[in-house]
Order: sequence, then C-alpha cells, then structure tokens
Amino acid sequence: LIQIYMPLNFLGFVYREIKQSLVDMEKMFDIIRMSSDIKDSPNSIDLKAENPNVEFKDVRFGYTDTREILKGLSFTVPSGTTTAIVGASGAGKSTISRLLFRFYDVTDGQICVGGQDIRDVAQKSLRAQIGVVPQDTVLFNDTIGYNIRYGRPDATDAEVYEAARLAQIHDFIDHLPEGYETEVGERGLKLSGGEKQRVAIARTILKNPSILLLDEATSALDSHTERDIQAALEEIAEGRTSLIIAHRLSTVVNADEILVMDAGEIVERGRHDDLLAKGGLYAQMWAKQQEVSEAFKKLEAAGEEV
Ligand code: ATP
Repeated sequence: LIQIYMPLNFLGFVYREIKQSLVDMEKMFDIIRMSSDIKDSPNSIDLKAENPNVEFKDVRFGYTDTREILKGLSFTVPSGTTTAIVGASGAGKSTISRLLFRFYDVTDGQICVGGQDIRDVAQKSLRAQIGVVPQDTVLFNDTIGYNIRYGRPDATDAEVYEAARLAQIHDFIDHLPEGYETEVGERGLKLSGGEKQRVAIARTILKNPSILLLDEATSALDSHTERDIQAALEEIAEGRTSLIIAHRLSTVVNADEILVMDAGEIVERGRHDDLLAKGGLYAQMWAKQQEVSEAFKKLEAAGEEV
C-alpha cells in the first residue's frame, strides 16, 4: 500500500505545484497525463469558435470555503484585443488565469469563451486554443531547437527559425557554437529567465493559438532584455485575444483595456492615459514604478562605467 500511495501522493504534489505556478502546464499535461480534479462533463463538446472572445461574468472564487479570493469579477476581452491585469501581489491576478485554463471551476458566475461556458467544453479543446507563456518556463533536457519545436512538432526548420526571430532569440541561438543543436536544461546550457521566456514565446508563436495567457516574470530584467521581451510579446499578441498578467507597467501602455485589481475586485479599468488622468491607484503604481525603473537604469549605467 505504501508503494502505491507514495507515487500517487508525489503526483498530487507535482500537480498542486503546477497549478500554483502555471509552470508550463501544457507540457506537464502531455508528459504525465495526470487527471485533474476537474472532469469533463458527460455532455461536453469541443470548443469550436475560431476567434473567440473571453468573458468573465460576475465570477466568484475561493480556494477554500472560508476565504473568497475573487469577489464578483466581470470583464470581456473582445476577440483580437489585449487586456492587461495589474494589481498588488495577492490581489488575485494569477487566479484569473488558472480559472481560464480551468484548473479550478468558479464558485459562482461564469467564464465563457466564444460564448460557450468553459464548463461545457472538453478541456482538451479549450487548452488547445490557449497559448501560455508562464513566468517560469521549464525546459526539456534536450536541444534548444527541440524546445521551440515543441509548440508544433511538425514545424519545418525555417518555421522554427522564424518563430525564434519573432521572439528575439534567434540571434542569440545562432551565435552559440552548436546553434539550435545546443543542449539546454539541467545538464546543458543554463538560460536566464528572460531567455527562457523568449523560448516559451517562440514555442507559442509556433503553436499559433487564438487566445494568449501571458504571465510576466516578476523578476527585474535589465532594460535591454526588457525591451527584447516587450517586442516579442507585442509580436505574439498581435491579432490574438490576449490576457496579460502584468508586473511591469511598461507592458500595459498599449493594452486595449487595463484592469486594476485590489483584494479580489476590479477597482479601476480603462486605457493607460485615462487611468493616469484619473489619479487613482493605477497612477500611484505608475509613479512608483517609474522611480524604481529610474533607479535601476542608474545602477545599470554605473555598472557600465566601472
Ligand atoms: P502575485 O502578483 O504575487 O503573483 P496574484 O495577484 O497573482 O499575486 P494570486 O496568485 O491570484 O495573486 O493569489 C490570490 C490569493 O489567493 C493570495 O492571497 C494567495 O495566498 C491565495 N492563494 C493562491 N493559491 C492558493 C491555493 N492553492 N490555496 C489557497 N490560497 C491560495
């Protein structure tokens, strides 16, 4: 009994970890094919909409019965547009992406994709439409080329290079002695957080999903890397229905709508300029981040002079 119990327990642990961190969920689902707590309904149908919008309708959710995390959220991401979610740590931003990927079901309210309640569609068909660029991308212990091609295994070399180019990682790979054949991961070349995120972006460009879920890295990046990632993100979001959990406000300037969250509620919403003019929470966050970013730039400049 112990022998059986231990691996199951371990899988449970792994599953919880993945749910928590959104770490490359698609990959883990493929590898372990573990069953989620969420089951397809017996009458589930495939998600069919070609360019679906995403709607949250008065969504309430708590991980436990005793603490409600999302307190009645309503918003729509129209097809082909970008919505950014900002707010303090713990406000519930990542919870929104976990719900859209259907790691959990809402306690109350409804999430619809292309007008279909996601509880009524087969999870596989839902997840096939969503490309995830997580905060921390876990790479396979294989070549960097393989890691990109994973987005669409039948892609040609030319398509892999093009995706890498769009993700601003091609030149970096091209300068490695073994190029796309370079081994990465635990036993191979260690990539920085920004490089790993660009691999994830290239992979997602190949997958070509209609919905994008981007969870920006919280860690500070140097301004050069930040600009590269920014360009790659804009490239990938173009024409798709995108939900960006933004930690760096520079990402959200061009978003079609920004949702400002505080303690499980949307407290402000609008475009960047409107929110700045409003002088509320967003404007405060913006001012604070400008200060941090100025300080960071000074440090970088000082580093270059040394
Ligand atoms: P951050 O910017 O730090 O990533 P966030 O806004 O994304 O924060 P969430 O990860 O959505 O915040 O978490 C919202 C709240 O839900 C937090 O208070 C967190 O402690 C709680 N929470 C998250 N995951 C779980 C879980 N598996 N079980 C219980 N509570 C959880």
